[in-house]
Amino acid sequence: MSNEIEARVYLAATGNLIPARVQWNNQGRISRISRLDTRTTSLPILLPGFIDEHIHGADGHDVMEATADSWRHIEQALARHGVTGFLATTITAPWPELMAVADLARTYEVSRDSICLGMHWEGPYLDPGYKGAQPEESIRPIVLTEIEHIIARSQNARLPLQLMTVAPNQPGALEAVRLLVAGGVRVNMGHSGATRDEALAGISAGADGVTHLFNAMAPLHHREPGLVGVGLTSEKAWVELITDGVHIHPDIVRMVFALAAPRVILVTDGISAIDCQPGRHRLGQWMVNVDGASARLDDGTLAGSILTPDQSLRNLLDWGISLRAIVGGWSEAPARRLQLEGRGRIEEGAWADMVELDAQYQVRGTIKNGQWIYRR
Ligand SMILES: [Zn+2]
Repeated sequence: MSNEIEARVYLAATGNLIPARVQWNNQGRISRISRLDTRTTSLPILLPGFIDEHIHGADGHDVMEATADSWRHIEQALARHGVTGFLATTITAPWPELMAVADLARTYEVSRDSICLGMHWEGPYLDPGYKGAQPEESIRPIVLTEIEHIIARSQNARLPLQLMTVAPNQPGALEAVRLLVAGGVRVNMGHSGATRDEALAGISAGADGVTHLFNAMAPLHHREPGLVGVGLTSEKAWVELITDGVHIHPDIVRMVFALAAPRVILVTDGISAIDCQPGRHRLGQWMVNVDGASARLDDGTLAGSILTPDQSLRNLLDWGISLRAIVGGWSEAPARRLQLEGRGRIEEGAWADMVELDAQYQVRGTIKNGQWIYRR
C-alpha cells in the first residue's frame, strides 16, 4: 500500500483543514506535505491521532483483567476510534490485583503498531470522601515504601507507569508526589476534596494535572475555589475533561475551554462497555449498569463512561468548540504533556500517527507509525 493520502488535513501550522497530500517514509515519519490546488469537500478529513491518558477498557475487556489478550482487544477496539496512543488506566483494587497489572506492564509485548503507551494508576491513594466509583475498601492510606515499590516495579517496564492520580489532601500526599515525580511519574490530583491551598501545595510538590476536572472533587465555590479553581487558574496544571454531555454540562465545557484551552486534555474515562450493547458490564471489581449514554453503579454513581474520542469530537463540534481547540485537547496537549516526541501534530518530520474521518467525522481509518491499524 502506498504511503500517502490525500485529504483535508489539519495542519499544525495553520490550525485548520487544508487540502493536501501527506506522504510518509518506511520508518513511519511524514516526509512531505504538499498542498492541493482544489476546493473540493469530497476529500476525507485527516487529523492527528487521538491520545487518551485515561481509559479503563473497551470491547468487553477491562485493564484490570491483567491479561495480554484483554489488553490487545482494548488496543484493537480503540484503534477503531482513531486512537494512536493511550494510557491503560487502573481502578483502585486490592494490592495483589494492582501487582498483577504491574507485572503485565513489565512484560507486555509492544510492537510497532501498539498504541498503548504506558500505565495510568487511578488510585489507590485517594480521598474516600470523593471516591466516585473507586471501591472504598481498597483505597489505601499513603505508605511511602509502597510507592517506592511501585516505582521500582515500573523501571524498565515495556509499559512504564506514566501517570498516577493521587488525592493531595491525604496524609503523606505531598511526600508521595515528590517521590513519584523524582521517579519519573507524572501526578494528577483527583478523587479529592482538596481545598485551594491543598491543591496548590500539590502543585508545588510537583503534581501537574487534574483528573477529570469537576468530577469526584469538591464543587467550585466562590470563597473556596478548591481543586476545580486551581485547575482552572493554575498555568502549571493540565486538566482532564470528559465530554460525553453527562459528566459535565456543555456550558461548563465551553467555560473550561474559554479559560484554559491550551491546558485541556480530553479523555474518555471509557470502560469495558465501549462498543458493547447496553446492559451489565465490568469496571474493575464492579458490574455497572450501562444504558445508551452512561455507566453507573447500582446506586446511580457515574462509573466511567462509554464515550469514545470520535464521539467526543462530534459532541464538541455540536457544542460550538473550534476544531483547533479540539485537536489541541485530543492530540497536541496530551502529546506535549506525555513528552511524545514528534506526535500530536501533522507536519513534516513528525510520526505518521493520524486518523482519517468522513465529512460527518466518523472514523474511516487509523494510522500509527505509518501503518494502517484500522480501515473501515
Ligand atoms: Zn477513571
